[in-house]
Amino acid sequence: MHIGMIDLQRNMEGPIAEVNTSDFDGEWNGAIAFIDRDGVLNYGSPNYINNPSELKIIPGAKEAIMSLRTLGYRIALVTNQSAIKRGLWEEEMIHSIHSKLQKEIGQFDVLMTCPHRNRDFCNCRKPKPGMLNKASEIIRNKSHAKLDWWGEKPTPIHPLDLMIGDRDSDMGAGWAVGARLFQVDENVGIAGVIDRIIDNDDGDEFSPVA
Ligand SMILES: [Zn+2]
Repeated sequence: MHIGMIDLQRNMEGPIAEVNTSDFDGEWNGAIAFIDRDGVLNYGSPNYINNPSELKIIPGAKEAIMSLRTLGYRIALVTNQSAIKRGLWEEEMIHSIHSKLQKEIGQFDVLMTCPHRNRDFCNCRKPKPGMLNKASEIIRNKSHAKLDWWGEKPTPIHPLDLMIGDRDSDMGAGWAVGARLFQVDENVGIAGVIDRIIDNDDGDEFSPVA
């Protein structure tokens, strides 16, 4: 019983949110670029990125982020980091890692981190769209309230919304908010898709239940 109550508490915790822009006015209604981190901006690792020195930026990531800014996107990082709930390191470490990330490739509007494992049954671990919805809520006061993996792909809040990631779980989370989907090779990262985004490509086909 006691354990059950602790689990419930944990499940109600949301993602870790780092918000850089202090003047979101609630009027802005433009497009958001939702961007996964490992394998997109920096090289991933099967053992997690555990501290800033393990963060190695993939060539072209900085230029791609600059391009997205120039195109008018607001940018939301959305990253699963279950090392946190696995107890490998404290939540503060994510701020150090993201501080280095932003020094090297530029500032994000919002950075969302899911610290949970599958067994925590949270609403933010991708492919669930909790981080994308919360970022959208913070940036433009709107998000998707419903989720139906077996239904039609939802209408995006802005037609140019997009999700960039290397895994199917990223594509699933982007699908769930109606975003255009750009799946990248984990060794090439965002640089491999930025030209398609500049050309307003419709993105990749994806079915979350195929
Ligand atoms: Zn989570």
